[in-house]
Amino acid sequence: MKRLVKDGREPGSEVTSRGQRILVVEDEPDIAALIGYQLTRAGFRVETTLNGVEALRTVARDIPDLIVLDRMLPGISGDEVLSRLKDDPETQGVPVLVLTAKKEREERIAGLELGADDYLTKPFSPRELVLRVQAILRRAREPGRVSAGSKVLRMGPIHMDVSAMQVSVSGEDISLTPIEFRLLHAFLESRERTLSRRQLLEKAWDVEADVSDRLETRTVDMHVQRLRAKLGEAGDSIQTVRGFGYRLKKDLE
Ligand code: CA
Repeated sequence: MKRLVKDGREPGSEVTSRGQRILVVEDEPDIAALIGYQLTRAGFRVETTLNGVEALRTVARDIPDLIVLDRMLPGISGDEVLSRLKDDPETQGVPVLVLTAKKEREERIAGLELGADDYLTKPFSPRELVLRVQAILRRAREPGRVSAGSKVLRMGPIHMDVSAMQVSVSGEDISLTPIEFRLLHAFLESRERTLSRRQLLEKAWDVEADVSDRLETRTVDMHVQRLRAKLGEAGDSIQTVRGFGYRLKKDLE
């Protein structure tokens, strides 16, 4: 995994992350213990469950700030857990970092379409895991912290108030995830300029991208599709530039 969190700050350096609760769902005790140790050291409160049923029960009792979810679990799979979390209005907003084994990546890419916020391929460095978790929580906390540019962006029926983190289409408010918000912001700022998947990953995910990785490009595609759907008819203004990326069409009315 060549992808690294951009700012490279030390794990645990973010005082604001302290006390946030993370649920780790991992059936391999050694890995679960390692993740728990690293996240605890970084100031998080960590709860670990060894299977999906227990994970869903734990979430139902008390919704965590973030879930680290292994895909390969006994009983119900990580994908199934993710799907149930995303189907439930109570839990669909909880960020999920998915852990996936290298061999299951290509054939099981579909799992990501269920709505993971990010993923890590095993084996991963514990430091990278902590940085990813911090980056996801930072985005969730401040989706509007995208750039020092203009505070209100608009194009056709799309209106974005950056500091209020509000987006409306033809006057109707729509609800976007932090990633969708940041993607739309990148499009609105770039106007007709085409953005590569790499640029979108860097802008929206705040990471250095490895675009030779098919999973990376699929991740971008999936989130752009979701954004398009939420924008309704205005979503058609996000055009696919084959083999390269996307652009927002200017003359939208
Ligand atoms: Ca496992």
